[in-house]
Amino acid sequence: MPFYEFMCEGCGPFEELRPMADASDPAACPACGGEARRVFSPPGLALLTRPLRCALEREEKSAHEPDVVGEKRGRPMSHRHAPAPSWVLAH
Ligand SMILES: [Zn+2]
Repeated sequence: MPFYEFMCEGCGPFEELRPMADASDPAACPACGGEARRVFSPPGLALLTRPLRCALEREEKSAHEPDVVGEKRGRPMSHRHAPAPSWVLAH
């Protein structure tokens, strides 16, 4: 199942894992339970932010002990609140 991005008016964006058939349904915000709209990421943004994200991860990794299995362990699989990207607030 793929992750889809949703935007809660009060709490900001979050991601939810759901079947592709339900992708266009509104999601319930994990923080306030309110209805959240589906967010479509502009395809150009991913290309722009990916090199930056990789650079940041590499920088962070080099600051700690190398850990080949630690990357997935620290991340919850769903309902992760991400900081609002600037393009979300722009409109
Ligand atoms: Zn909310």
